Amino acid sequence: MTTKAAFSLLVGSNIYEEDPILKPILKHLWEDYNDHEQELIDFGRWAGEELLPALWHLDNYAPPQHLYFTPLGERVDQIWISPLQRNLMDRLNEFGINSDPHSSETLMYHYALGYLLSDAGLYCIFTLTNQVAIILSKYGPFKEEVPYISGAQKPYKYGATFYTEVTSGSDLSQNQTIARRDGSRWLLTGEKYFTSNVGIADYALVTAFEEGAERHIKNLRLFVVPRYRKDGSPNYVIRRLKPKVGSRLVPTGEVELNNSEAYPVGDLSLGIYYTVESLMYARLSNAVASMGLAMKAYLEAKKFAERRITFGKPIIKHTLLAAEFEEYLEKLKRGILIGFLAVAEMDKCWQEKPPYNEQYLFARLLTHIAKNRTAELAIDITQWAIEVFGGIGVLSEFIIERWHREAQVAIIWEGTAHIHALEMVETIRKKGAGRLLIERIKGLASPSDLKKAEQIIQFIETGSIEEVVRKSRHLLRELAVVIENAYLSQIS
Ligand SMILES: Cc1cc2nc3c(=O)[nH]c(=O)nc-3n(C[C@H](O)[C@H](O)[C@H](O)COP(=O)(O)OP(=O)(O)OC[C@H]3O[C@@H](n4cnc5c(N)ncnc54)[C@H](O)[C@@H]3O)c2cc1C
Repeated sequence: MTTKAAFSLLVGSNIYEEDPILKPILKHLWEDYNDHEQELIDFGRWAGEELLPALWHLDNYAPPQHLYFTPLGERVDQIWISPLQRNLMDRLNEFGINSDPHSSETLMYHYALGYLLSDAGLYCIFTLTNQVAIILSKYGPFKEEVPYISGAQKPYKYGATFYTEVTSGSDLSQNQTIARRDGSRWLLTGEKYFTSNVGIADYALVTAFEEGAERHIKNLRLFVVPRYRKDGSPNYVIRRLKPKVGSRLVPTGEVELNNSEAYPVGDLSLGIYYTVESLMYARLSNAVASMGLAMKAYLEAKKFAERRITFGKPIIKHTLLAAEFEEYLEKLKRGILIGFLAVAEMDKCWQEKPPYNEQYLFARLLTHIAKNRTAELAIDITQWAIEVFGGIGVLSEFIIERWHREAQVAIIWEGTAHIHALEMVETIRKKGAGRLLIERIKGLASPSDLKKAEQIIQFIETGSIEEVVRKSRHLLRELAVVIENAYLSQIS
């Protein structure tokens, strides 16, 4: 066997065809799977042959850079993206990773490619664009100032979400950004602390409070802010880019809004609904990408273990390690299943609008459970993959350590584990989503699992809120396992 690239044993493989888990799960959950199989095979080949080497190079040597000034001293705040990365972005658009939400009926294709791509940084660029495109297509505005962005038409447009501030990430009710009306448009002033896709994005969804409004989450407003003002000058200042342990290919910066031109999204009074909904699409991306990168780490570890000899045989043949390979493959199966199950349920209702129907509520509950479960699994699996490589696993000249760095980001952004636990409690206790969950798994779950799920739901619905919250992170995990058990029997 020849090694195609010294840093990775997976380079040159077809990442889709090497994957022992994805295909049966997609076949089961995606009605139109057969229509897309060839595209997935083509993408898998491209990902193994071209994408993977390019990602390694970009991550190590050419991540985005902040260029402040021209030679004439003009401040431009250009975020320089390597031409190699630009080419990858074009290719991903040509593969149709993002489609026009008006014309596409399914989100499955986007998430299937996201899983195969699964570089947390590069995929984030498309996730953000996808979520902005969906929100704008559902709620507007469509005006001259904010042309509709589909992610599908050339020149490709990109989106971003600027919600977090230095004192306000999980708790957006503490956003300090102020919105003032100025005729038909609005002017936003404030500072955003984590702004992924900054410099690439043409439009950003931005949260703010109207001047004088009480800081209450129900008063949060959502606006769309173009990169450039109507007169062509920059609409906000990019203060700096952040150095990160992972997701390096998406530039994440800090932004100063100073009377930045903004346009309200939909009905201003529903801003918090739109904001949370936009996060749901990103949380699903997070779930599938977490498992995609965990699978890459597993496959790298397997290829290594088949060739690394200790005590006279390949390490994969030692009883203890062979058992662990089985155990970790099972973990991958569970994570990929629950991630794509959440996607498939959202796929049935993503056109729904506030106050949303029961199906959306169920999809939302699954999304909280799946986002956390997959992020935790990815950390565990990528950590174990490093161990399989022994000392070589911690050398940054090989790709294996990178997947673990990426996994560490996935558990934080799009809502921390604590926040998903609390939101899970809210959707069950206040919105009754637990009953829907029981209905769905009845007939699939074993009697003991069904009883367990019923007990958990009843406890969350009626237990002392203090006790429920104390245990919520554990309950989030336990519900994940019960759901996985129920659906695993369906996958051949
Ligand atoms: C690489 C990266 C890119 C990002 N990109 C973007 C972006 O593009 N746009 C954007 O808007 N944001 C972005 N974020 C921000 C991200 O969404 C926030 O970091 C995240 O939501 C957590 O908010 P915080 O950092 O303010 O932490 P905090 O909210 O201050 O939380 C700190 C800790 O307290 C815990 N905690 C908070 N409240 C509770 C509670 N009630 N009960 C129990 N525990 C609690 C949290 O879980 C966490 O462990 C990005 C973050 C990262 C790391």
